[in-house]
Amino acid sequence: MARLEICQFPMRGDNYGVLLHDAETEATAAIDAPDAEELLAALGEKGWTLTDILITHHHYDHTAGIEAVKRMTGCTVTGPAREAGLIPGLDVEVKEGDTVEIGGAKGRVIETPGHTRGHISYFFPDDGAAFVGDTMFSVGCGKLLEGDAPTMWSSLSKLAQLPPETKVYCGHEYTNANCRFALTIESGNAALQARAAEVEANTQKGAPSLPTTIAQELATNPFLRASSPAIQKQLGLEGRPLDEVFGEVRRRKDVF
Ligand SMILES: [Zn+2]
Repeated sequence: MARLEICQFPMRGDNYGVLLHDAETEATAAIDAPDAEELLAALGEKGWTLTDILITHHHYDHTAGIEAVKRMTGCTVTGPAREAGLIPGLDVEVKEGDTVEIGGAKGRVIETPGHTRGHISYFFPDDGAAFVGDTMFSVGCGKLLEGDAPTMWSSLSKLAQLPPETKVYCGHEYTNANCRFALTIESGNAALQARAAEVEANTQKGAPSLPTTIAQELATNPFLRASSPAIQKQLGLEGRPLDEVFGEVRRRKDVF
């Protein structure tokens, strides 16, 4: 049964902050800590006391606020064991299959390397929510800064297997630009065309495009759709291994 109230808010421009709150125990977790001041302000607005920070990866725009927030709240900081030396203030190191508890809510750690070597995602099955940092974006995926295409393809494939209705919270609001690129890869995809129009309208209103869902990403995200005959044809890679097709989509996005 769902327990968590989930609150998403923009930070540092295009980053997102997310708070998870278990009303019964009053436990509250932040996914990453892009900025201390903005995070503390969001907590104050909700009247919640932070008990935990769950870190997805070591990049500065996800960790810059950790030390100040920890000083102010005494919260426990959990993050990827494989990046332990790179994350300031880390208390608890986790790896594939470990469980994190926010009050009574349980989340599972999924290792999703590729953007960074030790990137992890958190999946809360009873709440139907996944927090994927910079591994997957809506209609996009993270840059391969510390991993190769097969590694990232394998990480994205793990996320793609979560239940289709799972709400997906990503680290950044890049969806509008991602849609413009995706249309160059799969211009005839009606679900993508509809998503692009919806996101454009949201952007005009200043409304977020996130969270998304696994089902929506499977239908629209070219980085998950390496098996699409239309994409393979567009890239001249018919029948090639899926991680190779994925790698070519990623390469084109890098120079888009
Ligand atoms: Zn990053």
